[in-house]
Amino acid sequence: MKSVLIVGAGPSGLVAAKTLLHSTPGKFNITVLEQQNRVGGMWVLRKGETGGKVSSEMSTNLSRFTVAFSDLSWDSVDLDSDLSESKGEKKRNHIPMFPKAWQVGRYLETYAKRYIPKDIIHLNSRVMKAERILQDGVKKWKVEWKTLSDQCMPAQKDFVENASIPQKAEGSLFQRCYDYLIVGTGFFSSPRPLALEKPEDGSDQPFFPPKIQHSSEFVDLEKLLSKGSNVKGNIVVIGGGISGSEAAANVAFQISNAKHAPLSKQNYASCNVYHVFSRPFYCLPRYLPQDPYSPETQSYRLTPTFSPLDLCMYNLSRRPDGPILPAHGRMAPDRALKLHQFIHSLLGGDQRDLGHPEVVYSQQQQKFPAYTGLVDMYSEFIRSGGIIPLRGRAVQLNANADEFGIFNPEAVKKEGTVKALSQPPWDVYAPNECIIDNVIGVIYATGFTPHTSIDWLSEEVRGALEYDKNSNRLPFLFQRHSIFNNQIPELAFVGFYEGPFWGVMEMQARLVARKWASPDERVISSDTSASKASKEELEVMRDLRDAIIQHCDDVPQFWMNDYVGLIEGLAQELGVERNDSGFDGRKGPCIAARYADSGCDQSQAEVVVRDLRDTMEASSTQARFVAAAAFRAMQGTWVLRRKLDSRLAGFPSGIFEGTANFHPRYPTDPEFTAEYLYIEEGVLTTNTGFTLNANRRYVYRYDEASDKISAWFVKDDGKTVDYFFNEMQFQLPTPDTKAQGKGWIANGAHLCEKDMYESLCEFRFRGVSLETFGIIYEAKGPKKDYTSESWYER
Ligand SMILES: Cc1cc2nc3c(=O)[nH]c(=O)nc-3n(C[C@H](O)[C@H](O)[C@H](O)COP(=O)(O)OP(=O)(O)OC[C@H]3O[C@@H](n4cnc5c(N)ncnc54)[C@H](O)[C@@H]3O)c2cc1C
Repeated sequence: MKSVLIVGAGPSGLVAAKTLLHSTPGKFNITVLEQQNRVGGMWVLRKGETGGKVSSEMSTNLSRFTVAFSDLSWDSVDLDSDLSESKGEKKRNHIPMFPKAWQVGRYLETYAKRYIPKDIIHLNSRVMKAERILQDGVKKWKVEWKTLSDQCMPAQKDFVENASIPQKAEGSLFQRCYDYLIVGTGFFSSPRPLALEKPEDGSDQPFFPPKIQHSSEFVDLEKLLSKGSNVKGNIVVIGGGISGSEAAANVAFQISNAKHAPLSKQNYASCNVYHVFSRPFYCLPRYLPQDPYSPETQSYRLTPTFSPLDLCMYNLSRRPDGPILPAHGRMAPDRALKLHQFIHSLLGGDQRDLGHPEVVYSQQQQKFPAYTGLVDMYSEFIRSGGIIPLRGRAVQLNANADEFGIFNPEAVKKEGTVKALSQPPWDVYAPNECIIDNVIGVIYATGFTPHTSIDWLSEEVRGALEYDKNSNRLPFLFQRHSIFNNQIPELAFVGFYEGPFWGVMEMQARLVARKWASPDERVISSDTSASKASKEELEVMRDLRDAIIQHCDDVPQFWMNDYVGLIEGLAQELGVERNDSGFDGRKGPCIAARYADSGCDQSQAEVVVRDLRDTMEASSTQARFVAAAAFRAMQGTWVLRRKLDSRLAGFPSGIFEGTANFHPRYPTDPEFTAEYLYIEEGVLTTNTGFTLNANRRYVYRYDEASDKISAWFVKDDGKTVDYFFNEMQFQLPTPDTKAQGKGWIANGAHLCEKDMYESLCEFRFRGVSLETFGIIYEAKGPKKDYTSESWYER
């Protein structure tokens, strides 16, 4: 039996071990070495666990269908123990659509326990070196690792006894030879440094007093600013895309919370957030419309159905007929334009409605690939001024000069300045230089580099893979979807690419298992068409790496992100049949469970596929996720007009005009998923000609488990929730509402002490945004009999 060493027990290492064990049983003797004292990689296992790349509370940006392997349903994972602190029972069996990081860790732990025998995974074992040697005329991997703790698992002791160096104290070195090596050490291994201009005089970087954190270090403003009370100044987030938009929205949210949470110390309420990024990007929320645009009427549908973003974007029906093949490398202008148009259809436009040219791709720029962020609150913070966008590359960080303009380190203020330059074709300003002053904290969201994940591979091995230490995004060149390089057939990479999707990792692992289990496939002779294709693949990667180094504008945001193409391409190559039952042929979301192979637990895969079918069915026939989409889109500032029609004397009739604001804050009750403090202010003009200033406050809440929006009265402090007011239950469009051109309708009825409130709300969407929404109340009671009709517009 051939021996295989897998380095890393994150998602990649685990799925590689499981696949080799179950898809090619009896073929390999497998060992997994993991430097941490747990499995799961970057996903922590416990609530509140710190020190990782992500906080334990971070929600995934893709749904539980994509953050999953083919044959473990989320249903089988015990997520309850950490929920026990939450008050309510109703969430006990609820599996979030976007699980938190600690829940993902639990999933991976369950996966390992279920499919990988204990004695295969060796924790606290960091691989230090792997080199190729010749042993009895056969090429082998000589691997060195050291233990990081003396708390060896019992299984590890057995393993150590088999190893050539019988020691087990912390820091002990071990070495052993293997036939095959799989690298599963993760692509996003360490923060990419912030590249600043060198000062012209050749000196070191200038003095910059504020604290600087990488986005993966940022937890909260308290830790970033470490200041006492009433902090004022600017916080700058550098870098667009996924981490940058998430960090900027996170900071803006914490400031909003400081202003609007009850009992808040308001420490950061006077801070501003600047977001500096070099090219525009679209911000997609977690729920997207499946059918946003009607070709028949050539207009946006007011009542689109919604689904989690990945189920919408990675839908097979989006691909043209014929075999689906993965797209690699730089992006041609026609493909780029199609992508922009698709995103416009989802967003209901090109983002110019947000009021900032910085986040809009001009017509000319749409020949370049679209970049995106995946975060709920970003766009509405931009629209409402909670985030100030600034297009440019941050090039200098300096100390704020004192009032005489002198940079004496003794005298300068504690604040700093950030200088950004915008460059063609992305510049929007003249002159193209911007300076943000009074900067009190900087978060740089420059992404990650994989160098520290591969520094243990010997120089000879790295050389064979055309290692480039200056390339942070593509240090090695690969063939076959970033798995192999023909120079070293006994080496494979799983999950080692930008945007590692779990389903793709699983397919990669299957290809490795297949190739190594059938030795004939291992050697590719120099004159086969496969070899020609491999050479071409290498050429594409080389060209891509050059383009990345030269900052070419046609480089996609992630260089291997064609999820559907990769899954389908690999499935075809492997002969894995897609499960189309219940999806009307080649339609529906592309998820790993639809591609279970003979090594999979079919019953588990079927549970996941059933869950997917039910979810899609609920989306199209039960208005599922509309409340989530509506609630997200309500954030921010609205122009409000209300008509009051009272049937009782003593209660005014008239018109209220003003503004309404939905301010995000942390849910004040863990039962709820999201919360706004609602504040309206304006003037009521009564039918009798009186005018009076009026304002109102409520709290609006969204609960994912029931998929409902509710409104609550607030106490006299204007912030604390008092008691329940109303709930919105979304209804499916009827022929009548359709004929009348109405949006989504939601009803509610509630007895408030002696008054009965019946509500009818209407939400008119344009893509992910709400163009307008209205709330009509009929209030009836001993002293009330009126109709209130409010319309909210941007
Ligand atoms: C900030 C951030 C957010 C993300 N959010 C999402 C998301 O929402 N959804 C999603 O699907 N993906 C997300 N990803 C992508 C994520 O990288 C993958 O989901 C997945 O974790 C990759 O798995 P991996 O096993 O390849 O890498 P990792 O999870 O990084 O695991 C690698 C493992 O290898 C071990 N290791 C490294 N070097 C050695 C060594 N020398 N010896 C022994 N062990 C070693 C590490 O300790 C680690 O356990 C995110 C990534 C980042 C950085």
